[in-house]
Amino acid sequence: MKSNARVRAWTTVALMTVAGLFAGPAAAAHADPEPAGPCAAGYAAITFDDGPSTLTPAYVRALNDAGWVKATFFLTGAHALDHPQYVTQIAAGGHWIGNHSFSHPFLDELGEPDAFNELLGTNQILQSATGHAPSLFRPPYGRTNPGIRQDATTLGMTEVLWTVDTYDYNGISTDDIVANALTVRPGGIILLHEGYTTTLAAIPRIVEGLAERGLCAGRIVPSTTPTEAWPGTTFFATAAHW
Ligand SMILES: [Zn+2]
Repeated sequence: MKSNARVRAWTTVALMTVAGLFAGPAAAAHADPEPAGPCAAGYAAITFDDGPSTLTPAYVRALNDAGWVKATFFLTGAHALDHPQYVTQIAAGGHWIGNHSFSHPFLDELGEPDAFNELLGTNQILQSATGHAPSLFRPPYGRTNPGIRQDATTLGMTEVLWTVDTYDYNGISTDDIVANALTVRPGGIILLHEGYTTTLAAIPRIVEGLAERGLCAGRIVPSTTPTEAWPGTTFFATAAHW
């Protein structure tokens, strides 16, 4: 009996080993690979539009608490005039500041020179607050055209759209904001907004979810290859190491 039991035990081990050999590669192909290290899978950019707002200090704190994570804030000139101290706070936190127009209009319907002046005026406000003219521009609602893109270029800015819209402005839950944000692919740019407590609460969970995939929050840089924002619309920027 004793030896039969031992034979059975060895047979079981042998069968498990054979099964493991066959199951191994197939199972590995389906499993989420363990990231080799921080940022092993690359970078994604976290962006917040429409500030600064009264929630700016809490956003900056949440990013610090999440591991001194850096984000890009696309500010409007009007809000920067309302809260100049928060513009300074964003810059002092090591975050990047982009131009999001002065009054958040449909720039493509505004005409020239009004569209250009929306960008120029905002650059002057942001420069006087931080000492630097922004190098990034995001058109409100993503509404742009070649003339507006040229305005940005003339002012030394790269136009930045996004690859993932979290729809955080639609009154959705923090769970849904996190889930939407985490659909981002390496090099992608996540659209979020200032002023929502739901978005504020999503910050640590987005950072954690990116880290689980080996992604780090990156800086937005110009790119020579186009990035697709939505079908038929591309822009020339991506997320990268900073
Ligand atoms: Zn906006």
